[in-house]
Amino acid sequence: MKVITVKCLEDNFSYIVLNEKNNNACVIDPGEPKPIIDRIRREKVNLRYILNTHHHGDHVGGNLELKKKFKCKIFGFIKDKDKIPGIDVFIKHKELYHNDDFEFITYHTPGHTKGHVIFHFHKQNLLFTGDTLFSLGCGRIFEGSYDQMFKSLELIKNFSKDTLIYFGHEYTLQNSKFCNYYDSNNEKLKEKILEITEKLKKNISTTPTNLKDELDCNIFLKCKDLNSFSKLRELKDNF
Ligand code: ZN
Ligand code: FE
Repeated sequence: MKVITVKCLEDNFSYIVLNEKNNNACVIDPGEPKPIIDRIRREKVNLRYILNTHHHGDHVGGNLELKKKFKCKIFGFIKDKDKIPGIDVFIKHKELYHNDDFEFITYHTPGHTKGHVIFHFHKQNLLFTGDTLFSLGCGRIFEGSYDQMFKSLELIKNFSKDTLIYFGHEYTLQNSKFCNYYDSNNEKLKEKILEITEKLKKNISTTPTNLKDELDCNIFLKCKDLNSFSKLRELKDNF
């Protein structure tokens, strides 16, 4: 299994997950069609499935064109079935889905949107977090509540520490400034900032991260209660 990161739009990440045995692939959150189509052609993969973490345009923008071109099946959360363009398969919280190509469990993580989900490819321990968890940050609360987002992050914190986390936007550098401002004595954070700065200098994306780094460095995962999380999220919105 191989993950190919494809940059879309301004700062979105789409991911092609490839079964190397037969070159069948799924794409997670195709923000727009063209970069995905180019990459699919270049790598000569068969696009079979689209998985959407949530209904925002920058995550589903490629759905219909890709479906038309490659006849792939679109997976989305059952409660977002009216919002996800071209949806074919309605998935539920904690549902295990498997076929000959892939196996993953979906978790409902409301907060950014009411129907946001994340996908865990548990055999490889890869977690696709969309706009729920970013490296050194978390998604803005648009449709859901602070309470929901806090609980969604708690759910993610319970995965094993070596989980690789593939997130939805390249916000890491900006996020790091906020973490550093409010957690200025965190040595691990300083190391992580050096690491991401080096990557960005070489034009390498900061995705994926891993859960251990995020538990050590991501200030939103350090909040002990809902109240402090809500305050911190508000501070970030105005940072
Ligand atoms: Zn979004
Ligand atoms: Fe987004």
